[in-house]
Amino acid sequence: MTLGDLKGRHALVTGGGTGIGRAIAEALLARGADVTVTGRRLDALRDVAGANPIAMDVTDPASVTDGIAAARAAHGPIQICIANAGIAEGASLPKTDEAMWRRIMATNLDGSYRVIRACLPDMADWGRVIAVSSIAGLKGLKGAPAYTASKHGMIGLIRGLAADHLGRGVTFNALCPGYVDTAIVTDNTTRIMDKTGMSEADARDIMVTQNPHRRLIEVDEVAEAALWLCSHGARSVNGQTIQIAGGEY
Ligand code: NDP
Repeated sequence: MTLGDLKGRHALVTGGGTGIGRAIAEALLARGADVTVTGRRLDALRDVAGANPIAMDVTDPASVTDGIAAARAAHGPIQICIANAGIAEGASLPKTDEAMWRRIMATNLDGSYRVIRACLPDMADWGRVIAVSSIAGLKGLKGAPAYTASKHGMIGLIRGLAADHLGRGVTFNALCPGYVDTAIVTDNTTRIMDKTGMSEADARDIMVTQNPHRRLIEVDEVAEAALWLCSHGARSVNGQTIQIAGGEY
């Protein structure tokens, strides 16, 4: 079995300058794809060796239109779209005010809709759309109803798209990681410490112990799954959710 190479394919990875997105971008580059990485912080994007960095805010329609146009101008049609950009704010519903709800939806759900919609016309005969949802797209995440709703929404979007584009060589799938060792976990740890006065180790352990393997997922584990979904061998995998969470759910 071989994952094959991706030479001649142009991949766009939102949130490609850090964490999971960066690992996916680097994995795609290693397979020979032309890769555009997008995000709001150009400095982080410029660190991804070999990728084309483009500043693009997924919450801003004009920024997405301009960013996608710039990506096409550099490397042609976008045949692999990785909707990964996201924020992980957590609060109970009474503490989720309108502004927080909108921020989370605007980034995670609206942003995914906007970027996937912009890339779709480029995928006539072959394409791969991968949304980085979360295990919170499949089950309720305690203390984070808005994040949970946004991640469930991304899976609904992927399933709806798969149903609408059958038999064309374009597939739509969602990755659902458990806690991954990125800035999101670091920020969560700080939040828990501030709220409860716990030690850093104890605060981090709350997330570590969600995973039955009692460890955080590594970004490469998510990137490997994305690569496989881009491969010829995965051409019949469509409309699926892939959990990368040690069996947490
Ligand atoms: P990071 O914080 O490292 O990545 C988030 C990325 O999204 C950043 O590169 C950020 O770039 C980008 N981003 C955020 N807001 C916007 C915006 N408005 N416009 C454009 N880009 C934006 O964390 P992760 O790598 O962990 O997160 C990646 C995805 O994985 C997220 O969707 C997250 O929900 C999901 N996920 C993470 C898990 C975890 O435990 N870490 C578990 C399950 C899912 P910039 O700030 O420069 O714009």
